Amino acid sequence: MISREVSENLKNASWIRRMFVEGGKLKAEFGADNVYDYSLGNPYFEPPKSVTDKLKALVNSEAQGTHRYMDNAGFPEVRQKVADAINRDIDHPIGFEHVLMTVGAAGGINVLLRTTLDAGDEVIIFAPYFAEYIFYIKNHNGVPVIIKTNEANFEPDLEAFENSITAKTRCVIINSPNNPTGVIYADETLKKMGEILLKKEAEFGREIYLISDEPYKALVYDGIKVPNIHNFFRHSIMINSYSKSLGLAGERIGYIAINSAFEDAELFMSGLAFCNRTLGFVNAPALWQKVISDSLEESVDISQYQVRRDILFKKLSELGFEMVEPKGAFYFFPKALEADDVAFVMEAKKFNLLLVPGSGFGYPGYFRISYCVDLAMIERSLPAFEQLVEYYKN
Ligand code: PLP
Repeated sequence: MISREVSENLKNASWIRRMFVEGGKLKAEFGADNVYDYSLGNPYFEPPKSVTDKLKALVNSEAQGTHRYMDNAGFPEVRQKVADAINRDIDHPIGFEHVLMTVGAAGGINVLLRTTLDAGDEVIIFAPYFAEYIFYIKNHNGVPVIIKTNEANFEPDLEAFENSITAKTRCVIINSPNNPTGVIYADETLKKMGEILLKKEAEFGREIYLISDEPYKALVYDGIKVPNIHNFFRHSIMINSYSKSLGLAGERIGYIAINSAFEDAELFMSGLAFCNRTLGFVNAPALWQKVISDSLEESVDISQYQVRRDILFKKLSELGFEMVEPKGAFYFFPKALEADDVAFVMEAKKFNLLLVPGSGFGYPGYFRISYCVDLAMIERSLPAFEQLVEYYKN
């Protein structure tokens, strides 16, 4: 038997998963080339050569100890390199002692929540959100508190944010560049969030942690730079991974980096290392820590993602879809052509378009397109979008 809670969660299976299954059926019926699958956020491009070269060198190396356990926080020299990369645009530099290597961003978020939450503590997230946050928070007996972002720009509604902070709030999770909107939060927004949190910490007499989940940080367009969260609030925590930037989603490698302004950084890091161990991760994969350590500031060819974004943005805008132009990540989040986003996505399926309803991200009325796909598929899919719009006109 499985637990009631897991059984309940399975019934609410993710929309992304459901559309993936639907896609399988459509592909069997119409042939893979005739189905336009925009449902999954699986990195499309192969890792840079520096990554595969280092991997080959390590695999062929006879050096002793490459595959052993290490400090639960990870290899100190790798953590120092991660810190050095973060320090490029920071007011108060961090050191290796502020970094813990994790099993991807997902592992990092779970470690962080396990370390900070007491049962019943609240965690604020912003809709539309990465659906797994809800489960991660519940994994550690936390209570998700959901705040809607503004429809005009998908940035947090700061008044609603301020009003939602209570004596039980322990963490706030932001995700910029955002999945599913592709929006990058402005400096001004982060500055105001930092000010609100500072005020609320004083009011309630306890720490609130601002967790910046940023696996898409390297995937940005138009020369935009993602602000460094550590410049905006003293209790900030960066969680990142190389899943998207280096195309290593299946290898599970990432990190947590806390602000050097933490009053008791040593205790906090000990808590993280303990939870990394006792959640069963033990440590991030040894080989992959070493593989990425020379490629931290490289990325897959982002111009290839930009080409896809530009083609789709142009076409969908011409067709009259209402949307905010994404500045990062590989997603669009347009308004559905009817209020019921689930019904809309089902209609789109009739044109072999696989989209994900906004309801799956806590934001009904919209839908997500994931454009980490083959360019030729995008080109082939454009008439299907035209037909879908025609269908709604009639
Ligand atoms: N956070 C967000 C917003 C994501 O979109 C994803 C993956 O798609 C993750 C975290 C998990 O990333 P990772 O593969 O590094 O665990």
